[in-house]
Amino acid sequence: MSDPATGPGCVIAGGGPGGMVLAYLLGRAGVPVTLLEAHRDFDREFRGDSLHPYTLELLDQLGLAGELLALPHHKARYFRFHTPAGTITTADYGQIPTRFNYVALMRQAQFLDFLAARIESLPRCQVRTGCRVTDLVREPDGRISGVRYRDSTGHHDLPAALVVAADGRFSKLRRLADLPVRSLGATTDLLWFTVPRRDSDPPEAGVDVFFGRDHYVGLLTGTAGWQVGYTLPKGGYAAAREAGVEPIRRAVAALVPWLADRVAHLTDMAQTTLLSVDISRVERWWRPGLLLIGDAAHVISPVGGNGILMAVQDAVTAANRLTPALSSGRAVPDAVLAAIQAERQSAIHQVQSDQVRLERRAAEARESGRPIAPPALLRVVTAIPGVRRRAAAANAYGPTPPHLEVPALVKSNRDDWKALSDKAQGTALTRLADVADTVADRSVLVGYSRAGYRLRRHSWPADDPRRDALAGRTALVTGASSGIGMAAAAGLARLGARVVLVVRDEDRGNQARNRILRQVPRAELVVARCDVADLDDVTRFAAEARAQWPTVDLLVHNAGVLPAKRQESRQGHEITLATHVLGPMLLTERLRPALAASADARVVFVSSGGMYTQSVPAGDVDYRQGRFRGAVAYARTKRLQVAFTTRLAARYARDGIAVHAMHPGWADTPGITNSLPIFRRITKPLLRDATEGADTIVWLAATQPPPPSGRFWHDRRERPAHYLPGRHDNAEHVHRAWLHCSEAARLNTSQNG
Ligand SMILES: Cc1cc2nc3c(=O)[nH]c(=O)nc-3n(C[C@H](O)[C@H](O)[C@H](O)COP(=O)(O)OP(=O)(O)OC[C@H]3O[C@@H](n4cnc5c(N)ncnc54)[C@H](O)[C@@H]3O)c2cc1C
Repeated sequence: MSDPATGPGCVIAGGGPGGMVLAYLLGRAGVPVTLLEAHRDFDREFRGDSLHPYTLELLDQLGLAGELLALPHHKARYFRFHTPAGTITTADYGQIPTRFNYVALMRQAQFLDFLAARIESLPRCQVRTGCRVTDLVREPDGRISGVRYRDSTGHHDLPAALVVAADGRFSKLRRLADLPVRSLGATTDLLWFTVPRRDSDPPEAGVDVFFGRDHYVGLLTGTAGWQVGYTLPKGGYAAAREAGVEPIRRAVAALVPWLADRVAHLTDMAQTTLLSVDISRVERWWRPGLLLIGDAAHVISPVGGNGILMAVQDAVTAANRLTPALSSGRAVPDAVLAAIQAERQSAIHQVQSDQVRLERRAAEARESGRPIAPPALLRVVTAIPGVRRRAAAANAYGPTPPHLEVPALVKSNRDDWKALSDKAQGTALTRLADVADTVADRSVLVGYSRAGYRLRRHSWPADDPRRDALAGRTALVTGASSGIGMAAAAGLARLGARVVLVVRDEDRGNQARNRILRQVPRAELVVARCDVADLDDVTRFAAEARAQWPTVDLLVHNAGVLPAKRQESRQGHEITLATHVLGPMLLTERLRPALAASADARVVFVSSGGMYTQSVPAGDVDYRQGRFRGAVAYARTKRLQVAFTTRLAARYARDGIAVHAMHPGWADTPGITNSLPIFRRITKPLLRDATEGADTIVWLAATQPPPPSGRFWHDRRERPAHYLPGRHDNAEHVHRAWLHCSEAARLNTSQNG
């Protein structure tokens, strides 16, 4: 049975810390999420209660820390080793420069209940308990496209744009996906149990380890009492159960004398929880359509108590990278899944290799009959100023803590923005602005002019791209040597992108580069020559571009021509068709692998408001018949760009590449001056400047969450593709034009074509 409630969002299997944090983050970013948890509630055996400073800061960023910390918890400020020679404080969280300079020890069930309630309050998000995932649903090509789960009413299928396996160390989904686990070897097991607190107990909580001859005891304070961890050699549980609780009571009382008066509370081995210590990981965290996070991807030992921290950090990295694709309803490209693993695995490897070293040390001590003890030098080292702080910080944040990309997640979705703007401006005012915007748009003269831009600017929602929104991204802009192309390149560079100015004339490209550098001195700009009307040159350029930039995040098709007389490209195509349609189609196709490698690839076609005056021609796409008029050829090919946008969006959806078309309004650019001098003379006072014309290009390239793919935009709003009667496209004409152009542009029409 298929479940219609969720739509093609994200399905997360497993409601542990990893799955729940990811569900919340994605949900806050507007992604539909269904989390399936096998158990009926979160209240089960002890699995760790530690919330590290990283986790608390994350919750604080999300505005949740205050509420969470109002719930019962203890603050552990130290990590201490107790040996017969005395106590060594190895880490002092109190010295870390953060408001949350402690590890919060809170019942995990309470933390998970708290998150579940927050997830449930998000639109299109739900947590379903008592739902055990039993199988993966696969497409004929092997891609995972959903799960099968069992609840009290039977079996159900749930489709998903992405399935996340957060189902813990014994992950069923990992097995179903045939992702083998490699064990790195562990030599210890741990038995956990609780004993009550007393008023006379040491008031200061910490994370304490008491070293004995054959065992060590870990001690954590908790709201339900002291959580005691008692070590056993690996596989020693059967013998321990045979021996019963008495040897455990004796060992604990000897190592932690002030607990001697209550070890008698341990009366039965059934009161203990076995943690079979494991250090293991999968080599690959993903399959197409499936991602593993947390313990499902890697199990770490309890040393350092940061299994929860690692799961939470996996969730943050995953949310940062998944949000762009999932919030626009696109399938998540494999490259994004691989990137999540690549980003997280070095931290996991580092934690695990430290743990393997400690495990080996304990095993060697056991084999040689020496007491298990921390290194003798530790006392000296930890006395050096700053060492305890650094040790605490290393444990508090892990090796490479991912930063939450807050604007993407906090400025959730468009509905939220609308709500925000409604709140800020008053609903009636916002509606008025909506009406004014629409009237301006239909009146053309007002909407496309400078006045239209300025009128609308005041009613835009709060979705301006972040100042560094494009840091680390590579953008290619065609026709970037002047006008809107140059303004778009400058706008993208201002947001941190490396911009490739794709130009026909390198000298003019270099002049544009210098002009942009005067405005954006730190811009990273490269000039590259390509005549987009010449398909052979496009093929050459695309190959070189792919070699130089294996990942391309943004491709802006801006190059345009408006010839007075009919001209043909080198391949014999009418020149506006070649420049506006065929070249861009071929360039996108040839750059497809580089775009697919981006976590958030966007292609923008810079069309024209002039396209409203034309419909897709019934044939003769190359404009061979009738009197040739440059403005008509221009408008027809700009119409084709808009008509093809939905097809191109569908074609590239699988690779996670979004395709947008926009029109800049009437902007005062050299193109207008040269091609339409009379129009310019009459309208000059009304024309926008190039930066105003390029505004929507930059916004489409950088705003978060990504605007939905396959639409037509003007002044940061989706606009209808048709206004004028008699100009609506005939589906058959569009299809024929598409076949003609995709063949001319050498697209492999067998693919989604
Ligand atoms: C006894 C013990 C003590 C620990 N102590 C600590 C500690 O002090 N500090 C620390 O940081 N870490 C500790 N850990 C480790 C910590 O629990 C994990 O690293 C952390 O919980 C991993 O989070 P997760 O979300 O990846 O997976 P889990 O927390 O394991 O969550 C997985 C969830 O998936 C559910 N599930 C499983 N199969 C299915 C299925 N087929 N369908 C649907 N749901 C499913 C499970 O019921 C579970 O709720 C301890 C672990 C154990 C076992």
